[in-house]
Amino acid sequence: MRILIVEDDDLVATGIKQGLRQAGYTVDLAGSAEEAERSLRSEIFDLAIVDIGLPGLDGLSFIRQLRSGDNPIPVLVLSARASMEDTVRGLDVGADDYMCKPFRLPELVARIRALIRRSNTLTDASLRHGPLALNTATRSATIDDRPLDLTNREWAILEILLMASPGIVSKDRLVQALAGWDKDITPNAIEVHVSRLRPKLAAGNIEIRTVRGIGYRMDPVAET
Ligand code: CA
Repeated sequence: MRILIVEDDDLVATGIKQGLRQAGYTVDLAGSAEEAERSLRSEIFDLAIVDIGLPGLDGLSFIRQLRSGDNPIPVLVLSARASMEDTVRGLDVGADDYMCKPFRLPELVARIRALIRRSNTLTDASLRHGPLALNTATRSATIDDRPLDLTNREWAILEILLMASPGIVSKDRLVQALAGWDKDITPNAIEVHVSRLRPKLAAGNIEIRTVRGIGYRMDPVAET
């Protein structure tokens, strides 16, 4: 997952960047709305964090512009302006969430996760991982555009691993996710599903790594 931070305060921007990288995100910085526009035109991001007080075009006008151009990117406003009116204005121009400075990093990361989750299930944007693509709207998967035959459980496991990549997903988390189908699913059953999933992904050279004693992870695939 790749995040664009639009923030003119270097110290704040660098702090957020470091925190988000530790949380497993790829992060780019833009010091102004104009710079952010250029980045968004040439690259694909999963979310933008936008400051309100920016040199040149301000954050609210920038968001309004994004939305009038039908750009659906999830936007989280991070601002020192803390009044309720500011929050309302931010959401009304098209921001998806609003946080005030000073903020706590774990909360920011949790909100980012929620926004990305929401955007992935509400739009038909596909989750991509090298040659593998998961369409979360149709619940179909392809490798190099060839359909991949997955069971519901395999699909659910893969979706969680991809959303978390490169983070580690605990077996417990997968057990909980699959409990909707199998009430008494066990960690051993998860192992069985993963072992059936592995050969299916081999065509794309995609590997599910076992993190001993914890769970699984999928390493990021280099963009080509
Ligand atoms: Ca600022």
